[in-house]
Amino acid sequence: MILGRAPIAGHVALLHPDAERGEAIARLLRAAGHRVSVIERGRRVTQGVIERAPDLFIVSAAYPDPPVPSVVRGVRQGLGHDLPILVLLDQGDPETLIEADEMLREPVDAAELDLRVGSLLRAQADRRLLQRKVQELLGLYKISWAFSLAGGAEALYGHLARQSAEVLRAQKGLVLIFDRERRQMVGQHHGFGLSREQVSLARYAVDGEPRSRWNFRKNGPLVSNKAQADSRLLPEITADLDLHSVLIAAMTRGPQVHGLLLVADRLEGGSFTDEDLNLLLAVAGQATVAVENLHLHEELKRANALLQEYDRVKSEFVAIVAHDFRKPLMAIRGFAELVLEEPDIPIEARQEFMRTVISETEQLALLANDTLLITQIEAGQFEFRWSEIDLGPFILDTMPMGLSDHSVLLDIPPQFPRIVADANRLRQVLTNLTMNAIKYSPGGGSITVRCRERGTQHVVIEVDDHGLGIPQEQIGLLFQKFQRVRTEDHLRISGTGLGLYICRLIVEGHGGQIWVESERGKGSTFGLVLPIDARTAQKTHKASDASVPEPSKPATES
Ligand code: ADP
Repeated sequence: MILGRAPIAGHVALLHPDAERGEAIARLLRAAGHRVSVIERGRRVTQGVIERAPDLFIVSAAYPDPPVPSVVRGVRQGLGHDLPILVLLDQGDPETLIEADEMLREPVDAAELDLRVGSLLRAQADRRLLQRKVQELLGLYKISWAFSLAGGAEALYGHLARQSAEVLRAQKGLVLIFDRERRQMVGQHHGFGLSREQVSLARYAVDGEPRSRWNFRKNGPLVSNKAQADSRLLPEITADLDLHSVLIAAMTRGPQVHGLLLVADRLEGGSFTDEDLNLLLAVAGQATVAVENLHLHEELKRANALLQEYDRVKSEFVAIVAHDFRKPLMAIRGFAELVLEEPDIPIEARQEFMRTVISETEQLALLANDTLLITQIEAGQFEFRWSEIDLGPFILDTMPMGLSDHSVLLDIPPQFPRIVADANRLRQVLTNLTMNAIKYSPGGGSITVRCRERGTQHVVIEVDDHGLGIPQEQIGLLFQKFQRVRTEDHLRISGTGLGLYICRLIVEGHGGQIWVESERGKGSTFGLVLPIDARTAQKTHKASDASVPEPSKPATES
């Protein structure tokens, strides 16, 4: 006996050999609210029942031809074994002959008929509900498999859209992903049941009008069976996608919204219920995991590509450095062998050879230091040592006085502010720039080091020369590793192409920028801007060839 549950009405097919008794039973059933199809006698009774697809089949055991067991078998074959069957027995009939869900003796008692039919229909409805749940769960299970099978973003979003629509028996499905930079919700290809054009139209800025509509993060998922007239939805989107009934749930992790999952237009014009919302929420939960996996996978791919690039650059670096080390080593070895094997070399020549050995050794030490410094800064393992610097005397100290015929001038206003920087590294930058100015001005000429304040927080240092200058098309590359100007004049002068790259790493490590302005044959100006206090300056730079755009002259501070 089923208590406390609402009576359930259904469609009953009735087969009885006695038309009058059959009609009496049909009347009782109709009075209880059921729809009744009385099957006409004849050879086609089995087919007649199948065609009507009832929720319950009532048949009298006395039906003569075809015999009831064969009718029951046929009906079950046609409509499945779930169809409940109630057999009416005459007083004398044995109960075991026919495979039925219920038996009832005639003449039937109205209350008992009502009870039995009600309980069979209820069980049938419960079974169908269960079947639907199983289908839904199977759908969910399939979705989780789809995630691991999907290859790439488009395939994944396509799978999610289709599977969500299938699980919720909808004609359309779409994943929208939140573009954090543009602050837009963007429909993802492929949608299900939507054209490419429609999916392309499915995008909106979240900070505009949507603020006054439904907030999926705060208010949770949404069900609407009159989408086009629903003020909680954006009318352009519902119109463009031609949505009638919709279910939308957010894919979230904590307060973060990854995007939305939308299914729309129930099959056969039906409507969505709150129960469907729960199912969509479960699907959205799975989809969130899949979308996060995809993001992780893509990040991993990017990191991997970057690592490969680092690896390539590193190998190239090692190869070039090995070559640069070998050159002075061969010279040292050659002179040492000469001195060892030729006892008759005059003392002056010997001293000359030894001076060359010492200068080549110094070059080697410099190269080793540069290489080590680059590796440390690139790996983020270099610790700058900050101290206060009075730029005037500091620059005077670094100027290579008396090393060449060039006149070197310092142009710095009196009472110039002190700055905080790494003194050794800044010295390295200034020495490099002034030595380059001398080196690449083989015809002599003046070299000026100029200091100026920029705003209240920065200083600019410029090194001017009147030397070879740099062809315009090669300027962009100069601050990268091993880049040397490829003209005959430049290549005649020895160098490694590491100095300016190191300058750039050091200046950017101070939170500053370095640049060059030059005209071929007229001279160059190398400039750098440094914060007054490098400790507090924000260091946006992470040293790497691949990720850093070419330095250019920075805009004047306003
Ligand atoms: P190196 O001088 O060891 O080759 P750098 O990195 O210091 O390496 O300089 C890179 C290249 O830039 C040099 O090879 C040279 O061609 C060019 N260069 C640097 N400074 C100047 C300058 N003041 N005038 C002209 N060319 C320069």
